[in-house]
Amino acid sequence: MTKKKRASALDEVQGIEDPNGINASLAKSLKAKRKTKNSANELLKEVLNGNVTALSQAITIIESSHPNDITAAKILINGCLPHTGNSKRIGITGVPGVGKSTFIESYGNHLVNQGRKLAVLAVDPSSSISKGSILGDKTRMETLVKSENVFVRPTAAGTALGGVARKTRETMLLCEAAGYDTIIIETVGVGQSETMVHSMVDFFMLLKLSNAGDELQGIKRGIMEMADLIVINKADGDNLKKAKLAQTEFKRALHLFPSKESNFQTEVLLASGLSNEGIEEIDNVIANYFAQVNNSGYLNDKRFEQQLFWLKYTVEQRLFEHFYTNPKILREFEKQKELLKEGKITAFEAAETLLSLQNLT
Ligand code: GDP
Repeated sequence: MTKKKRASALDEVQGIEDPNGINASLAKSLKAKRKTKNSANELLKEVLNGNVTALSQAITIIESSHPNDITAAKILINGCLPHTGNSKRIGITGVPGVGKSTFIESYGNHLVNQGRKLAVLAVDPSSSISKGSILGDKTRMETLVKSENVFVRPTAAGTALGGVARKTRETMLLCEAAGYDTIIIETVGVGQSETMVHSMVDFFMLLKLSNAGDELQGIKRGIMEMADLIVINKADGDNLKKAKLAQTEFKRALHLFPSKESNFQTEVLLASGLSNEGIEEIDNVIANYFAQVNNSGYLNDKRFEQQLFWLKYTVEQRLFEHFYTNPKILREFEKQKELLKEGKITAFEAAETLLSLQNLT
Protein backbone atom coordinates (compact mmCIF):
# COMPACT_ATOMS: atom_id res chain seq x y z
CA MET A 1 0.00 0.00 0.00
CA THR A 2 1.41 3.33 -0.92
CA LYS A 3 1.49 5.96 1.78
CA LYS A 4 -0.45 9.13 1.06
CA LYS A 5 1.94 11.99 0.67
CA ARG A 6 1.34 14.91 3.02
CA ALA A 7 0.73 18.22 1.33
CA SER A 8 3.64 20.55 1.70
CA ALA A 9 4.11 24.17 0.84
CA LEU A 10 7.19 23.03 -1.01
CA ASP A 11 5.23 20.83 -3.37
CA GLU A 12 5.29 21.78 -6.95
CA VAL A 13 1.95 22.89 -8.20
CA GLN A 14 1.23 22.22 -11.76
CA GLY A 15 -0.12 24.91 -13.91
CA ILE A 16 1.51 27.80 -12.08
CA GLU A 17 2.78 30.57 -14.30
CA ASP A 18 6.38 30.32 -15.31
CA PRO A 19 8.30 32.28 -12.67
CA ASN A 20 10.79 33.30 -15.32
CA GLY A 21 7.91 34.95 -17.15
CA ILE A 22 6.99 36.97 -14.06
CA ASN A 23 10.57 38.00 -13.56
CA ALA A 24 10.87 38.98 -17.16
CA SER A 25 7.87 41.32 -17.06
CA LEU A 26 8.94 42.75 -13.70
CA ALA A 27 12.44 43.28 -15.04
CA LYS A 28 11.00 44.96 -18.11
CA SER A 29 8.94 47.43 -16.10
CA LEU A 30 11.86 48.12 -13.74
CA LYS A 31 14.05 48.72 -16.76
CA ALA A 32 11.46 51.12 -18.22
CA LYS A 33 11.28 52.98 -14.90
CA ARG A 34 15.06 53.22 -14.70
CA LYS A 35 15.11 54.48 -18.26
CA THR A 36 12.50 57.14 -17.46
CA LYS A 37 14.51 58.23 -14.42
CA ASN A 38 17.78 58.31 -16.33
CA SER A 39 16.38 60.29 -19.20
CA ALA A 40 14.60 62.70 -16.82
CA ASN A 41 17.88 63.27 -14.99
CA GLU A 42 19.69 63.86 -18.29
CA LEU A 43 17.00 66.32 -19.34
CA LEU A 44 17.18 68.05 -15.97
CA LYS A 45 20.91 68.60 -16.42
CA GLU A 46 20.28 70.22 -19.81
CA VAL A 47 17.48 72.42 -18.43
CA LEU A 48 19.81 73.65 -15.70
CA ASN A 49 22.39 74.39 -18.42
CA GLY A 50 19.87 76.68 -20.07
CA ASN A 51 19.27 74.46 -23.09
CA VAL A 52 16.06 75.78 -24.68
CA THR A 53 15.15 72.56 -26.52
CA ALA A 54 15.48 70.64 -23.27
CA LEU A 55 13.34 73.24 -21.51
CA SER A 56 10.59 72.84 -24.12
CA GLN A 57 10.75 69.06 -23.78
CA ALA A 58 10.63 69.28 -19.99
CA ILE A 59 7.56 71.53 -20.14
CA THR A 60 5.83 69.08 -22.49
CA ILE A 61 6.48 66.34 -19.92
CA ILE A 62 5.02 68.49 -17.15
CA GLU A 63 1.93 69.12 -19.24
CA SER A 64 1.43 65.42 -19.99
CA SER A 65 -0.72 63.09 -17.92
CA HIS A 66 1.00 59.85 -19.05
CA PRO A 67 2.15 57.82 -15.98
CA ASN A 68 5.80 57.70 -17.16
CA ASP A 69 5.73 61.45 -17.68
CA ILE A 70 4.31 62.00 -14.18
CA THR A 71 7.36 60.21 -12.72
CA ALA A 72 9.67 62.24 -14.95
CA ALA A 73 7.86 65.50 -14.12
CA LYS A 74 8.47 64.94 -10.41
CA ILE A 75 12.18 64.43 -11.04
CA LEU A 76 12.33 67.57 -13.17
CA ILE A 77 10.44 69.78 -10.73
CA ASN A 78 12.27 68.55 -7.64
CA GLY A 79 15.59 68.95 -9.42
CA CYS A 80 14.72 72.48 -10.50
CA LEU A 81 13.31 73.66 -7.16
CA PRO A 82 16.65 74.54 -5.52
CA HIS A 83 17.36 76.83 -8.50
CA THR A 84 14.08 78.75 -8.43
CA GLY A 85 12.86 81.97 -6.87
CA ASN A 86 15.41 84.34 -8.35
CA SER A 87 13.28 85.88 -11.05
CA LYS A 88 10.87 88.76 -11.13
CA ARG A 89 7.43 87.26 -11.69
CA ILE A 90 5.13 89.67 -13.45
CA GLY A 91 1.46 89.11 -14.29
CA ILE A 92 -0.23 91.05 -17.06
CA THR A 93 -3.97 91.03 -17.61
CA GLY A 94 -6.48 92.87 -19.78
CA VAL A 95 -9.36 92.17 -22.10
CA PRO A 96 -8.69 90.73 -25.58
CA GLY A 97 -7.62 93.56 -27.86
CA VAL A 98 -6.30 95.82 -25.10
CA GLY A 99 -2.84 95.35 -26.60
CA LYS A 100 -1.21 92.81 -24.29
CA SER A 101 0.95 91.06 -26.84
CA THR A 102 2.02 94.35 -28.47
CA PHE A 103 2.87 95.71 -25.01
CA ILE A 104 4.76 92.57 -23.98
CA GLU A 105 6.73 92.73 -27.21
CA SER A 106 7.69 96.33 -26.54
CA TYR A 107 8.45 95.81 -22.85
CA GLY A 108 10.20 92.53 -23.59
CA ASN A 109 12.53 94.18 -26.09
CA HIS A 110 13.29 96.86 -23.51
CA LEU A 111 14.28 94.14 -21.03
CA VAL A 112 16.35 92.21 -23.54
CA ASN A 113 18.22 95.39 -24.47
CA GLN A 114 19.23 95.62 -20.82
CA GLY A 115 20.68 92.11 -21.03
CA ARG A 116 17.79 90.43 -19.26
CA LYS A 117 16.45 86.96 -20.03
CA LEU A 118 12.69 86.76 -20.39
CA ALA A 119 10.15 83.95 -20.42
CA VAL A 120 6.57 84.69 -21.48
CA LEU A 121 3.90 82.23 -20.39
CA ALA A 122 0.15 82.37 -20.65
CA VAL A 123 -2.92 81.23 -18.75
CA ASP A 124 -5.77 81.20 -21.18
CA PRO A 125 -9.15 80.31 -19.64
CA SER A 126 -10.71 79.94 -23.08
CA SER A 127 -8.47 76.99 -23.93
CA SER A 128 -9.87 74.95 -21.05
CA ILE A 129 -13.48 75.81 -21.81
CA SER A 130 -13.48 75.42 -25.57
CA LYS A 131 -10.76 74.11 -27.83
CA GLY A 132 -10.16 77.60 -29.11
CA SER A 133 -7.70 79.98 -27.60
CA ILE A 134 -7.65 83.73 -27.16
CA LEU A 135 -3.95 83.94 -26.40
CA GLY A 136 -2.33 80.98 -28.07
CA ASP A 137 -1.98 81.92 -31.73
CA LYS A 138 1.49 81.86 -33.18
CA THR A 139 1.67 85.24 -34.87
CA ARG A 140 1.91 87.10 -31.57
CA MET A 141 5.12 88.77 -30.37
CA GLU A 142 6.94 88.19 -33.63
CA THR A 143 10.22 89.96 -32.91
CA LEU A 144 10.36 88.78 -29.34
CA VAL A 145 10.15 85.08 -30.20
CA LYS A 146 13.20 85.48 -32.44
CA SER A 147 15.41 86.76 -29.63
CA GLU A 148 17.67 84.12 -28.16
CA ASN A 149 17.15 85.57 -24.68
CA VAL A 150 13.41 85.14 -24.84
CA PHE A 151 11.37 82.01 -24.33
CA VAL A 152 7.69 82.17 -25.30
CA ARG A 153 5.37 79.34 -24.39
CA PRO A 154 1.66 79.43 -25.20
CA THR A 155 -0.89 78.33 -22.69
CA ALA A 156 -0.94 74.73 -21.43
CA ALA A 157 -3.91 72.67 -22.48
CA GLY A 158 -6.04 71.30 -19.70
CA THR A 159 -9.50 70.31 -18.69
CA ALA A 160 -9.86 72.82 -15.89
CA LEU A 161 -8.44 76.25 -15.26
CA GLY A 162 -6.89 75.06 -12.00
CA GLY A 163 -4.98 72.36 -13.89
CA VAL A 164 -3.79 74.84 -16.51
CA ALA A 165 -2.68 77.26 -13.81
CA ARG A 166 -0.79 74.57 -11.92
CA LYS A 167 1.09 73.60 -15.07
CA THR A 168 1.92 77.23 -15.72
CA ARG A 169 3.25 77.62 -12.20
CA GLU A 170 5.46 74.56 -12.63
CA THR A 171 6.58 75.82 -16.05
CA MET A 172 7.56 79.09 -14.38
CA LEU A 173 9.76 77.18 -11.92
CA LEU A 174 11.48 75.34 -14.78
CA CYS A 175 12.11 78.62 -16.60
CA GLU A 176 13.67 80.11 -13.47
CA ALA A 177 15.93 77.10 -13.10
CA ALA A 178 16.91 77.48 -16.77
CA GLY A 179 18.15 80.99 -16.02
CA TYR A 180 15.31 83.33 -17.02
CA ASP A 181 15.40 86.35 -14.70
CA THR A 182 12.02 87.77 -15.67
CA ILE A 183 8.84 85.76 -16.13
CA ILE A 184 5.79 87.39 -17.62
CA ILE A 185 2.53 85.51 -17.20
CA GLU A 186 -0.19 86.84 -19.41
CA THR A 187 -3.88 86.24 -18.97
CA VAL A 188 -7.20 87.46 -20.28
CA GLY A 189 -9.52 89.39 -18.02
CA VAL A 190 -12.11 86.65 -17.89
CA GLY A 191 -13.44 84.78 -14.88
CA GLN A 192 -11.07 83.20 -12.40
CA SER A 193 -7.90 83.34 -14.45
CA GLU A 194 -6.76 86.64 -12.95
CA THR A 195 -6.96 85.28 -9.42
CA MET A 196 -4.97 82.23 -10.50
CA VAL A 197 -2.25 84.33 -12.10
CA HIS A 198 -2.24 86.78 -9.19
CA SER A 199 -1.50 83.77 -6.98
CA MET A 200 1.74 83.01 -8.78
CA VAL A 201 3.29 86.39 -9.55
CA ASP A 202 5.01 89.09 -7.50
CA PHE A 203 3.73 92.05 -9.45
CA PHE A 204 0.36 92.31 -11.14
CA MET A 205 -0.31 94.77 -13.95
CA LEU A 206 -3.69 95.65 -15.41
CA LEU A 207 -3.89 97.01 -18.95
CA LYS A 208 -6.91 99.17 -19.70
CA LEU A 209 -8.31 101.05 -22.64
CA SER A 210 -9.73 104.53 -22.36
CA ASN A 211 -13.39 104.35 -23.20
CA ALA A 212 -14.53 107.96 -23.00
CA GLY A 213 -16.18 108.47 -19.66
CA ASP A 214 -17.09 104.92 -18.65
CA GLU A 215 -13.67 103.76 -17.48
CA LEU A 216 -14.78 102.37 -14.19
CA GLN A 217 -17.94 100.76 -15.41
CA GLY A 218 -17.81 97.03 -15.55
CA ILE A 219 -14.41 96.86 -13.91
CA LYS A 220 -14.36 94.34 -11.13
CA ARG A 221 -13.47 95.76 -7.75
CA GLY A 222 -11.33 92.70 -7.06
CA ILE A 223 -9.08 93.32 -10.00
CA MET A 224 -8.47 96.93 -9.00
CA GLU A 225 -7.42 95.66 -5.59
CA MET A 226 -5.10 93.08 -7.09
CA ALA A 227 -3.33 95.49 -9.43
CA ASP A 228 0.06 96.88 -8.42
CA LEU A 229 0.02 99.04 -11.52
CA ILE A 230 -2.72 100.16 -13.89
CA VAL A 231 -1.64 101.06 -17.41
CA ILE A 232 -3.93 102.98 -19.74
CA ASN A 233 -2.74 101.48 -23.00
CA LYS A 234 -2.94 102.76 -26.58
CA ALA A 235 -2.29 106.27 -25.24
CA ASP A 236 -1.26 107.55 -28.66
CA GLY A 237 -2.61 109.71 -31.49
CA ASP A 238 -6.24 110.69 -31.05
CA ASN A 239 -6.49 108.43 -28.01
CA LEU A 240 -4.06 110.42 -25.90
CA LYS A 241 -6.56 112.96 -24.60
CA LYS A 242 -9.07 110.29 -23.60
CA ALA A 243 -6.28 108.26 -22.03
CA LYS A 244 -5.30 111.19 -19.81
CA LEU A 245 -8.90 111.60 -18.65
CA ALA A 246 -9.06 107.90 -17.88
CA GLN A 247 -5.81 108.18 -15.92
CA THR A 248 -7.31 110.92 -13.71
CA GLU A 249 -10.46 108.91 -13.16
CA PHE A 250 -8.57 105.75 -12.15
CA LYS A 251 -6.31 107.71 -9.83
CA ARG A 252 -9.32 109.20 -8.11
CA ALA A 253 -10.96 105.79 -7.76
CA LEU A 254 -7.80 104.27 -6.31
CA HIS A 255 -7.88 106.77 -3.45
CA LEU A 256 -11.01 105.07 -2.20
CA PHE A 257 -9.22 101.76 -1.74
CA PRO A 258 -7.45 100.90 1.49
CA SER A 259 -3.65 100.84 1.24
CA LYS A 260 -2.11 97.54 0.22
CA GLU A 261 -0.36 95.07 2.46
CA SER A 262 2.81 95.64 0.44
CA ASN A 263 2.59 99.38 1.26
CA PHE A 264 3.22 100.00 -2.40
CA GLN A 265 1.11 102.75 -3.89
CA THR A 266 -0.66 101.58 -7.05
CA GLU A 267 0.07 104.03 -9.85
CA VAL A 268 -1.82 104.74 -13.05
CA LEU A 269 0.45 105.26 -16.06
CA LEU A 270 -0.05 105.83 -19.76
CA ALA A 271 1.58 103.67 -22.41
CA SER A 272 1.58 102.81 -26.05
CA GLY A 273 2.97 99.42 -26.86
CA LEU A 274 2.75 100.28 -30.53
CA SER A 275 4.99 103.35 -30.32
CA ASN A 276 7.02 102.21 -27.29
CA GLU A 277 5.80 105.09 -25.15
CA GLY A 278 5.81 104.87 -21.36
CA ILE A 279 7.75 101.62 -21.30
CA GLU A 280 10.75 102.94 -19.42
CA GLU A 281 8.57 104.61 -16.79
CA ILE A 282 6.71 101.34 -16.25
CA ASP A 283 10.00 99.48 -15.91
CA ASN A 284 11.09 102.00 -13.29
CA VAL A 285 7.91 101.48 -11.28
CA ILE A 286 8.45 97.73 -11.40
CA ALA A 287 12.08 98.13 -10.32
CA ASN A 288 10.99 100.36 -7.41
CA TYR A 289 8.39 97.82 -6.38
CA PHE A 290 10.93 94.99 -6.24
CA ALA A 291 13.43 97.14 -4.33
CA GLN A 292 10.75 98.01 -1.78
CA VAL A 293 9.27 94.53 -1.26
CA ASN A 294 12.68 92.89 -1.15
CA ASN A 295 13.78 95.29 1.55
CA SER A 296 10.66 95.02 3.65
CA GLY A 297 10.58 91.22 3.47
CA TYR A 298 7.09 91.41 1.95
CA LEU A 299 8.15 89.49 -1.17
CA ASN A 300 9.16 86.44 0.88
CA ASP A 301 5.92 86.53 2.84
CA LYS A 302 3.87 86.91 -0.31
CA ARG A 303 5.55 83.97 -2.01
CA PHE A 304 4.98 81.82 1.06
CA GLU A 305 1.31 82.84 1.13
CA GLN A 306 1.08 81.86 -2.52
CA GLN A 307 2.53 78.45 -1.77
CA LEU A 308 -0.06 78.01 0.96
CA PHE A 309 -2.76 78.99 -1.52
CA TRP A 310 -1.64 76.28 -3.94
CA LEU A 311 -1.32 73.73 -1.18
CA LYS A 312 -4.88 74.36 0.02
CA TYR A 313 -6.23 74.63 -3.49
CA THR A 314 -4.72 71.29 -4.49
CA VAL A 315 -6.03 69.54 -1.37
CA GLU A 316 -9.50 70.99 -1.93
CA GLN A 317 -9.54 69.93 -5.56
CA ARG A 318 -8.41 66.40 -4.73
CA LEU A 319 -10.97 65.99 -1.96
CA PHE A 320 -13.65 67.35 -4.20
CA GLU A 321 -12.78 64.96 -7.03
CA HIS A 322 -12.51 62.02 -4.66
CA PHE A 323 -15.84 62.82 -3.07
CA TYR A 324 -17.90 63.23 -6.21
CA THR A 325 -16.47 60.20 -7.97
CA ASN A 326 -17.12 57.80 -5.07
CA PRO A 327 -19.97 55.43 -6.19
CA LYS A 328 -21.28 55.04 -2.63
CA ILE A 329 -21.58 58.78 -2.31
CA LEU A 330 -23.10 59.18 -5.74
CA ARG A 331 -25.82 56.66 -4.86
CA GLU A 332 -26.54 58.35 -1.54
CA PHE A 333 -26.49 61.72 -3.24
CA GLU A 334 -29.42 60.69 -5.42
CA LYS A 335 -31.38 59.52 -2.35
CA GLN A 336 -30.66 62.73 -0.47
CA LYS A 337 -31.68 64.75 -3.50
CA GLU A 338 -35.09 63.07 -3.49
CA LEU A 339 -35.55 63.64 0.25
CA LEU A 340 -34.59 67.25 -0.24
CA LYS A 341 -37.09 67.62 -3.06
CA GLU A 342 -39.84 66.15 -0.91
CA GLY A 343 -38.97 68.62 1.84
CA LYS A 344 -38.15 65.84 4.30
CA ILE A 345 -34.67 67.07 5.16
CA THR A 346 -32.67 70.28 4.99
CA ALA A 347 -29.71 70.81 2.67
CA PHE A 348 -27.43 70.81 5.73
CA GLU A 349 -28.68 67.45 6.94
CA ALA A 350 -28.19 66.00 3.47
CA ALA A 351 -24.64 67.35 3.41
CA GLU A 352 -23.93 65.87 6.86
CA THR A 353 -25.18 62.46 5.74
CA LEU A 354 -23.02 62.53 2.62
CA LEU A 355 -19.95 63.76 4.45
CA SER A 356 -20.35 61.08 7.14
CA LEU A 357 -19.91 58.45 4.42
CA GLN A 358 -16.40 59.79 3.86
CA ASN A 359 -15.74 60.29 7.55
CA LEU A 360 -15.16 63.93 6.87
CA THR A 361 -17.36 65.22 9.68
P1 GDP B 1 -4.21 91.53 -27.07
O1 GDP B 1 -5.37 90.76 -27.60
O2 GDP B 1 -4.53 92.17 -25.78
O3 GDP B 1 -2.94 90.73 -27.03
O4 GDP B 1 -3.98 92.75 -28.09
P2 GDP B 1 -2.94 92.93 -29.32
O5 GDP B 1 -1.59 93.27 -28.83
O6 GDP B 1 -3.06 91.75 -30.21
O7 GDP B 1 -3.52 94.22 -30.02
C1 GDP B 1 -4.84 94.30 -30.53
C2 GDP B 1 -4.93 95.41 -31.59
O8 GDP B 1 -4.63 96.67 -31.01
C3 GDP B 1 -3.94 95.23 -32.73
O9 GDP B 1 -4.59 95.60 -33.92
C4 GDP B 1 -2.82 96.18 -32.41
O10 GDP B 1 -2.16 96.67 -33.54
C5 GDP B 1 -3.55 97.29 -31.67
N1 GDP B 1 -2.66 97.91 -30.67
C6 GDP B 1 -1.93 97.28 -29.76
N2 GDP B 1 -1.23 98.14 -29.00
C7 GDP B 1 -1.54 99.36 -29.45
C8 GDP B 1 -1.15 100.68 -29.05
O11 GDP B 1 -0.35 100.91 -28.15
N3 GDP B 1 -1.72 101.73 -29.75
C9 GDP B 1 -2.60 101.55 -30.74
N4 GDP B 1 -3.10 102.62 -31.34
N5 GDP B 1 -2.98 100.32 -31.14
C10 GDP B 1 -2.47 99.25 -30.51
